[in-house]
Parts: sequence; C-alpha cells; structure tokens
Amino acid sequence: MKKNIGEIIDISNEIYDKGLVSGKAGNISARFKGENGDMIAITPTLKSLSNLNEEDIVLVDLNGNVLTKGKPSSEVNMHLEIYKKRPDINGIVHTHSPYATGFAHSSKKIKRYEGFGEIKTQFLAEIEYEKPGSDELAKNASEGIGNEDVLILKKHGVICVGENLKEAELLAVFVEETAKTQFVTYILNSVEDKI
Ligand SMILES: [Zn+2]
Repeated sequence: MKKNIGEIIDISNEIYDKGLVSGKAGNISARFKGENGDMIAITPTLKSLSNLNEEDIVLVDLNGNVLTKGKPSSEVNMHLEIYKKRPDINGIVHTHSPYATGFAHSSKKIKRYEGFGEIKTQFLAEIEYEKPGSDELAKNASEGIGNEDVLILKKHGVICVGENLKEAELLAVFVEETAKTQFVTYILNSVEDKI
C-alpha cells in the first residue's frame, strides 16, 4: 500500500511538472487489493498535485466509504464508477491539459493518431458536458469510456485509464502531445504561404 501511495505522489508531481495539471486542478487514483477487497487511493480535494505528502492521499473503498482522514477529490465518484465498470484497469489520470482541453472547449475533435492502439474510430471518444463532481458526470464518464482508454469531457478535460497508473499517465502525455500537434497543423494550414 505504501508503494501505491508513493507512486501516486510521484506521478502527481510528474504530471504537474509536465504542465498537464496546474493550480489545484486534476486528480489521479490507483486501485489495489486491500484485506477486504478493492481499495482506491486518490488525490485530495482542494490541493495542488505538486508536493503532496503521504498523509494527503485518501483511501476509499469501491462504495465511496472514506477509510482515512482527509477529503478525496470532488471527482471521486467518477473514478469509482469507472473502476466498477472496468475491472481491467487499475489507474486513472484526469487532467485539464491545455491543448486537449482547448479541443474539448471547441467544436473540433481530437483525431486518433497511431499510438492509440488499433484505430477503430477516427476520433477520440467524448461525452457532453456535465457539472464536475456530479453523479451525471460519474455515470456518463463510466459509460462513455466503454472499452476506450481515453475519454474527452466536453468543456472540461480528459480522462485516461490504464492497467496501472503509469500507463494512464503515459497516455495522458500522449493525448496532450497529439492535441498540440493537431493544433499546430490547423494553424499552419490556415496561414497563407507567402514564400
Ligand atoms: Zn476536472
């Protein structure tokens, strides 16, 4: 368990340093086996993901019972609903990374590039806006992610899931890079070539 908590702190620092989250935004979690079934370790509410301590990480069970002191992220229900729907995943990273979230606020969709695994559909999956922290968002996000590993939350941000937290983090980095590349491509294509 200590190892899981240490990993959450390390990955929180990494995604903060990479600029995928800023201020007090974003939240991540990992699932591990506890004595009485699955436990989820999640980042706290109203704290920056930079410089978290072991005591800041909150443990909850799959029913949302808080097992340690501290208050979990306001998006804890979204994490729990996804874990319930996806027994194959053990890590979730939720960011408002700027390029991908820019797409989420626009009418443009993020194209799937090679690297997202088998290309089944042209664009990354997305769901319409629901209030952050709401039961509707938790329900729609867990249904929307289906068998996908990335879900764009319109007018909000990005969810990435993985068989472990590191995989979810790598995907969050890749989604942001993909969105950035597509943004640059759109801009360059819109500029008249005068050379
Ligand atoms: Zn959010």
